[in-house]
Amino acid sequence: MADLIIMRQGATEEEIEKVVKKIEKLGFQAHISRGTERTIIGIIGDTREISDEVFRVLPGVSEVISILKEYKLASRDFHPNDTIIDVNGIKIGEGYFVIMAGPCSVESKEQLYKTAKYVKEKGAKILRGAVFKPRTSPYSFLGLGAEGLKIIKEIKEELEIPVITEVMSPEEVEIVSEVSDILQIGTRNMFNYRLLQKVGRIDKPVLLKRNFSAKISEFLNCAEYILKEGNNKVILCERGIRTFDSEFTRNILDLSAIPILKKETHLPIIVDPSHGTGRRDLVIPMSKAAIGAGADGLIIEVHPKPEEALSDGFQSITLDMFSNLMNEITPFIEITKKKM
Ligand code: PEP
Ligand code: MN
Repeated sequence: MADLIIMRQGATEEEIEKVVKKIEKLGFQAHISRGTERTIIGIIGDTREISDEVFRVLPGVSEVISILKEYKLASRDFHPNDTIIDVNGIKIGEGYFVIMAGPCSVESKEQLYKTAKYVKEKGAKILRGAVFKPRTSPYSFLGLGAEGLKIIKEIKEELEIPVITEVMSPEEVEIVSEVSDILQIGTRNMFNYRLLQKVGRIDKPVLLKRNFSAKISEFLNCAEYILKEGNNKVILCERGIRTFDSEFTRNILDLSAIPILKKETHLPIIVDPSHGTGRRDLVIPMSKAAIGAGADGLIIEVHPKPEEALSDGFQSITLDMFSNLMNEITPFIEITKKKM
């Protein structure tokens, strides 16, 4: 089995080209990753039948490696350098720390404006707010839809802040990406393969939330669906998983997933302590824990009046609490030496 061809230091373009040609001749796609020291060529497809010999004999080849994991483009073996995603000049990935904040749902222009203005002043770099809501009950508030997108567009332009909002179906990808700077795929849609393929074919960052019952390998395989289509701007989000204990929290925020993902993948990892716990009093402590575990950022639900929120009020923090959160977490971020 052959998955990765590591070229010798100083391998010529001609030698690299020969390897690529060979891969293509066998009916596979080649993925070239040029590092500062050496070039790595990955083979995309079911490589179980390819013998390493075929490549080992080619000039300029140093090593042939097989990866037993199913996901390749998402793996660090395949792509050793951290992926840094640029959203209108805001960097997301290793070495940076980004805070995304805003209401669970967009409810009105006033509500979004008030929240956005406040969180931006306090240091949030990206505004969140959903207009297409995948709710557990079809009788719950399902979002303002297209009307909400209009509100997001107005606020984003007035306040000059990039936005992230959820997309629920392949049909909505186009209208959502006209407005949103990052497309969010929620926990319930992590396994929506058609949606993953669709967002994989556009040039827009995607924040993929871990399904509440997904193993880490399943999470990475879903990221792979997007990467395979050509979109390499994938941001992972740990947002809590289900275990036996739901007595005190809505989900269990899987903090160990952060360092594991950092090892397994080059993609940025954002933590959502709001859905991860379901309780506003746990948002600050879990934010600190996420920073300590190596997260590249946070996504936080904030509402001017959480008691009146149309969704997720219980876990939404108030504007004052957001200010406290920023004050409390800043020293933690400074210790990591990540740029805010
Ligand atoms: C949300 O971000 O409001 C949301 C619905 O998140 P999740 O998909 O993680 O439940
Ligand atoms: Mn929510």
